[in-house]
Amino acid sequence: MQAGATAVAVVDAAPGQLRGGNSSLTKSMRFSWRDSAQLARLLRTSDARLVEELAAGRSEYANEQYLDDWLRVSGGEVDTALIASIIGRSAGAITWMYESGQRWEPRRNPLPGDVPVVLEGGGQGLQDRNFGQFEQLGGKVFHDSAVTDIEVTVDGLYRVKGSGPAFPATCAALVLASGGFQGNERMRERHLGEPWRNVKLRGVPFNKGVPLMAAIAIGADQAGNWAKCHATPQGILLPDHMLPGQMRESHALARYAYPRGIVVNRKGHRFFDEAADHGNLTYVTLGQKILEQPEKVAFQIFDKAVLDARLLPESYLEDPASVVAASIEDGARRLFIDVGNLVETVRAHPGVGTPPYLFVPVVCGLTFTYGGLSGSPNAEVLGGGRPMNGLYATGEIVGGLYDQGYPAGTGLLLTTPEMP
Ligand SMILES: Cc1cc2nc3c(=O)[nH]c(=O)nc-3n(C[C@H](O)[C@H](O)[C@H](O)COP(=O)(O)OP(=O)(O)OC[C@H]3O[C@@H](n4cnc5c(N)ncnc54)[C@H](O)[C@@H]3O)c2cc1C
Repeated sequence: MQAGATAVAVVDAAPGQLRGGNSSLTKSMRFSWRDSAQLARLLRTSDARLVEELAAGRSEYANEQYLDDWLRVSGGEVDTALIASIIGRSAGAITWMYESGQRWEPRRNPLPGDVPVVLEGGGQGLQDRNFGQFEQLGGKVFHDSAVTDIEVTVDGLYRVKGSGPAFPATCAALVLASGGFQGNERMRERHLGEPWRNVKLRGVPFNKGVPLMAAIAIGADQAGNWAKCHATPQGILLPDHMLPGQMRESHALARYAYPRGIVVNRKGHRFFDEAADHGNLTYVTLGQKILEQPEKVAFQIFDKAVLDARLLPESYLEDPASVVAASIEDGARRLFIDVGNLVETVRAHPGVGTPPYLFVPVVCGLTFTYGGLSGSPNAEVLGGGRPMNGLYATGEIVGGLYDQGYPAGTGLLLTTPEMP
């Protein structure tokens, strides 16, 4: 609408009080920045010391470093040219968002490698501002309006079918932003494998892959690794899914401080290199591996030094399922971990010091699926390798961006066209 479109509508499967999708549960966006003045501008501060502290010794986060991080953790079957273009446009996208009214605040208690600034009010704030701006510009939103099918008319327009007063809707340009297929049990089992049929979702249950499959049915190309997904370690009390409005609860369930301790399974064995990289670059690898462990559960264990230095988020200690144990044997017994194996594991791992120990049980929480549509750097959907006239896609519905791990803060950034 900023570029001159006169009639724009959003149709959303969720009811109005549950608007905002997974985006409403987020915290931060990863973007390139070239100096601390850029961070200061986003924070609207002249406090140079605060900004230096946030930057934690970094003078910039260059496109090359960003691309290196992305490819190192996600590697494999990805569209490097598309990723490089997203990264190259990230600073411009952030500036455009700022000028359109989005706001940032300092990140509290950053872990090494974290983006120094976060969205003001997190994803909830992001989406409240987005809906506000959209409606102010004259956009219309239809809730409780799930798209069930898409057809192409003889005039080359898109006819969108679904349930609710918005349908059928005919339009010249259609932007698909309906997420992955993680909310669809059958598609999960078919593409990710049987263990993923019964898995908890970190996000909303509405993203079932219906517009994704409808686009493929009218000729859109598929891209990416359909057998892989983003999944992370979560507190064992994670419910079956989360809803918009539960951002704080959702953040409190994240269990990403494991590089400060060790992670074991019910048999008392380590199954993952906790210190391979920054936690925000390895958390997906760990989330996926938890699902392969006996009873699909794992335990993060920390020693006295970590507890005394207060290096863990408050939520680790507030989790009712966490156990403070006087010895490794004590913790293992209370959580039904193989005592002998765990004692052996800890002995072999020089990183674990003296008691008391904090034991934190964790499960796998599925965030979103990686397989999706083939997209161009300008967010056009490709069909037969060429842009499909008037069809665009953004967000998790786009495939080819991740294969293995996931660099935190990139999901919100996916395929933003060149900003004016
Ligand atoms: C708990 C959590 C924390 C996260 N934290 C971060 C973070 O800090 N930074 C980051 O970059 N990424 C984060 N992510 C990932 C991020 O949320 C996604 O990459 C991003 O939000 C994707 O946006 P999207 O528009 O594709 O999907 P969504 O924001 O989920 O929007 C999809 C919308 O489509 C609607 N929809 C689905 N099907 C239909 C249909 N058939 N008809 C009509 N509407 C439909 C849904 O109701 C929803 O409103 C997080 C995800 C979760 C779950």
